[in-house]
Amino acid sequence: MSAVTIAGSGLAELTCARLLAERGHRIRLGPPAGSDPGAGSRPLLLTGPTLDLLRSLWGDGLVDDAPRLTHRQVRWGRHARPARFAQPARVVDGVALARRMRARLGPLPAPAGPTRWTVTARPDPGTPPTGDGPRQAGRRRLLTGTTSLRPGQDPRTALLDTTALAWLQLTPLGTEECLVQAMVPGPAAEPAALLHRVLADSALGGAVGRAPRTATAIPAAPRLHPAPAIAPTDRHPYGRLIVGAGAIRYDPLSGTGTAQALRTAILAAAVIDADATGTPAEALCAHVTRRLRAAYAEHLRTCAGLYGAAFTAPAWQDELDAARRA
Ligand SMILES: Cc1cc2nc3c(=O)[nH]c(=O)nc-3n(C[C@H](O)[C@H](O)[C@H](O)COP(=O)(O)OP(=O)(O)OC[C@H]3O[C@@H](n4cnc5c(N)ncnc54)[C@H](O)[C@@H]3O)c2cc1C
Repeated sequence: MSAVTIAGSGLAELTCARLLAERGHRIRLGPPAGSDPGAGSRPLLLTGPTLDLLRSLWGDGLVDDAPRLTHRQVRWGRHARPARFAQPARVVDGVALARRMRARLGPLPAPAGPTRWTVTARPDPGTPPTGDGPRQAGRRRLLTGTTSLRPGQDPRTALLDTTALAWLQLTPLGTEECLVQAMVPGPAAEPAALLHRVLADSALGGAVGRAPRTATAIPAAPRLHPAPAIAPTDRHPYGRLIVGAGAIRYDPLSGTGTAQALRTAILAAAVIDADATGTPAEALCAHVTRRLRAAYAEHLRTCAGLYGAAFTAPAWQDELDAARRA
């Protein structure tokens, strides 16, 4: 069995801790996420396959009280018509979900001495040095704010629309509130003003009471860590596995970021398990790196196809070029 440090308490880190604890490895857990007073909430829309994966890893009851959506309506591209289809989903607070996972883990048998592996979700964990930070394909930002739904608006349907500049998603939050997110090609100096403009250009403007008063601009271009898995060696007997969005960040349009993060946790646990039973760690880490690179390349191809079909503005051309270069 291995001794493992789980550096943080994100969704992928805690999932890896659970899988390892189930297999008898000894775990040292980092501080809980969101324990600092300034930690806010992180709304995540989790669709059916992600909920199934979460249930298979953690059992029932983790998100049962989260607001439930039943449908999605999508209009993708200037000349498209809106299409509405059934898509069961939950809107969860990622910070609260991580707290629940942590509570469900309970006390774990901690290793006495140094640990052979560190599992972290941070893209910049520092040591051992990789000499190379994460690679990012583009500079796009997701503008995010909340506002009220207009009375009569269906509180169970998420809406996705495109304008010349952005895609825009409206996610009901189970009350009269909704989350408004807009993906724009590049940094935004005044997120609230830009979100207001994008909403005004879209049919979704009519679904909300008013534009959000405040908004944040979150970096959201796909990103890959060049060295997500470093094997322990004789000279440096501490291995490192990066999981979650620190290893590979998906464009939020994919709607599968959390599922992908959980998959990296499964992969990391499998590496540690196989290393403990004698499989050469270098080969395991090379396998992880290859798999993530292949997944990233595939994701960029999908993004280039989707974005290329919907956006012709020069700023989006830069994003498409970045995806092709990466
Ligand atoms: C803008 C944006 C929107 C997204 N929307 C969705 C979505 O709707 N649905 C979906 O499935 N995926 C979505 N994703 C992807 C999703 O957020 C992540 O892929 C997934 O939650 C990552 O899990 P993780 O374990 O890597 O990171 P996290 O759970 O974010 O944890 C990473 C690290 O941050 C620390 N941390 C976490 N929260 C806090 C906090 N509050 N304070 C301090 N530290 C903290 C943790 O301890 C951990 O070490 C989105 C991503 C982005 C960038």
